[in-house]
This record gives sequence, structure tokens and C-alpha cells, in this order.
Amino acid sequence: MADALHSKDAAGLRPLIDGFGRRIDYLRVSVTDRCDFRCVYCMSEHMTFLPKADVLSLEEIDRLASAFVRRGVRKLRLTGGEPLVRRGIIDLVRSLSRHLESGAIDELTLTTNGSQLARYAADLAAAGVRRLNVSLDTLDPDRFAHITRWGRLPQVLDGIAAATAAGLHVKINMVALRGINDDEIEAMLRWCGAAGHDLVLIETMPLGEVEEDRTDRYLPLSQVRGDLERRWTLEPIALSTGGPARYVRIRETGQRLGFITPLTHNFCESCNRVRLTATGTLYMCLGQDDAADLRAIIRATESDAALDAALDAAMVRKPKGHDFRIDRRAAAPAVTRHMSLTGG
Ligand code: SAM
Ligand code: SF4
Repeated sequence: MADALHSKDAAGLRPLIDGFGRRIDYLRVSVTDRCDFRCVYCMSEHMTFLPKADVLSLEEIDRLASAFVRRGVRKLRLTGGEPLVRRGIIDLVRSLSRHLESGAIDELTLTTNGSQLARYAADLAAAGVRRLNVSLDTLDPDRFAHITRWGRLPQVLDGIAAATAAGLHVKINMVALRGINDDEIEAMLRWCGAAGHDLVLIETMPLGEVEEDRTDRYLPLSQVRGDLERRWTLEPIALSTGGPARYVRIRETGQRLGFITPLTHNFCESCNRVRLTATGTLYMCLGQDDAADLRAIIRATESDAALDAALDAAMVRKPKGHDFRIDRRAAAPAVTRHMSLTGG
């Protein structure tokens, strides 16, 4: 392993390889922990957000993301909190898009709740963004208001329409919630099919304290899949978008449907990504608490060598897999930080 850690690839890059030989080529960057929604499964209604001084400046985010690109990361995803509420976000996207132009990365993308898309979709497309993940758990306005607490459905639908009009490919992320939207999965599938969006279903993950008991809302996607298979023919396809989703094609409609199943199916063996928070903390695994403080390094030195050494040290600590489980005996969430800190 030591050899793999220090050797260069054909392009002269010293790639990021973890202790299990997995090459890390995907970085998710949370640009803010703040959000204009308060989704019931993600945040508490009265969240305490990070002090502004702790949050990286846009220049610091750029420096860190670019250090990863230098080490062979080929895909950057900006997330949050809600990335599009961060002031100056379009400047950051424009700046990072230089890595697209140089060919150093294949993709620069975002995960968003869609609330600000009507305003920013054209700018994102102009900066080289091609695809977006938009979170949408229901098409019912009242349910939407219930799930997001502060969100309004028409604003998000307008945002999605603006993104499509700007030429962005939209993938819809839907968290499957027992008793809340489980009766809407087929309707969402049809809506996505008609609008040309892929749909990805996600299981709720035990991240951070929220008011609800997630055990009540947890809906195993194996069950959803079984229900869908009674009416449709689901054909597994080899599509990989670099993320953890496993895809099928629905033979009758030709549509693609993805499943992200951290709890019913462990997807860690092919994990290629790490996550950077808005404070410059690098999490090697979404489901583990171990982290590396990169902010301290970039605020202490201009030296890229120190940063590179920190990245190498972090890679060695990337765990084999997560410890998620949802059961009633484990009263506390598996991981105490909220999803809004590390992003989706
Ligand atoms: N605000 C943006 C959004 O909602 O798309 C980006 C950040 S959000 C934390 C990223 C994704 O994580 C969303 O699709 C959201 O539904 C999902 N998410 C949040 N908390 C979750 C949880 N506890 N379990 C599973 N997915 C979660
Ligand atoms: Fe905000 Fe996204 Fe979390 Fe909802 S899921 S509260 S939109 S960060």
C-alpha cells in the first residue's frame, strides 16, 4: 500500500489512494451549513448554525478543492446546507470551472433544494455545470410544506423548470419516508418520466438529532423495489454516475431509476469519495466521525506540501465502511452531526 500511496500515475499525478486501495476521485464540498428549508429528516426546526468566522471563505474553498483536483479528483459536487444560499456561490462555481476548461475534472455539479434555481440556473449552465441533483420528496404542496417546514413547492418547480430550460440535466432525489410519501413513489416516477428527469430514491440515514424518531419513517428500499416490481419490469443497468446509486431501467417506459440504500445494502466497497465541510473539516466517510482539520493547515501556511501531507494522512484513515443502522435499541443517531454539515 505504501507504494500505491507514493507512486505517480501516467499523467504524473500522485493520486489519492486510501488504505484499502480505493482511489478517491470524487470530492463533495459543503459550502454552507445554512439552509432556507428545515426538512424534518435533515434538520431540527431550531438549528444552531456555525459562527461565520468558522466557515471557509470562497477563496479558501477554492484552494482546498483545487488541492484535491491536483491530486486527481475528477468530480466536484457543491452541496450544503443549501449551496445556492451562500453569497457569492456563482463566483465560486465560475472560478472552479477553470478545472473543467483545463480538462482536470470531468464534472462540476451541485445538490440543491431548488429554491434559488429560477435565479441561478442560467448562470450555472453558463459556468459549465451540466447536471444538478434537486431534492424533491413530494409533488403535493401541503406535504411539501410539511416535510420542508419552510419551503414552498411552486418555487421549487419553477426552479426545476428554469434549470431544464437552461439545458441542465436534472436528477430528482427523493427520500423515501414511511407514512409520508411512500404512496407517491409511482406518481413521482411518472412525473420524472414525463419531464425527462432521472429519479433516485434514498433511504433515511441516522444523521444528527431531529424532532422525529427516524425509526418510524424508515422505509427500506428493498420493499419499495419489491412493490414496483409487481407492476413494472425493472432491469438492472450498469450505469455509474460516480455516486452510490444503483440503477435500473423500467422496461415499459425506458426510464432510469436509482436506489441509494445505505442501510439495506452496504455500498462502501466501491467508495471513491470524501467530504469537506464548510469549516474545512474533511470527513473520510459520511457514516463515521473521524475527520481531518484542513482549515488549520491552510490558515497556518501557504505551503501546498503541508496540505498534500495532510491529504495523504487522511486517506490512510479512511474506514472500510460505515456503521449505519436504524433500530429502536439505538436511541441516539449513528452519527451526531447533521447531513446539512457534510451535505448529500
Ligand atoms: N440542501 C440541498 C438539498 O436538499 O438537496 C443539499 C444538501 S441536503 C443535506 C442533500 C441531500 O441529503 C438531500 O437530497 C436530502 O434529501 C438528503 N438528506 C438529508 N438528510 C438526510 C437523512 N437523514 N437521510 C437521508 N437523506 C438525507
Ligand atoms: Fe436544507 Fe437540504 Fe437539509 Fe432540506 S435536506 S433542510 S433543503 S439541507
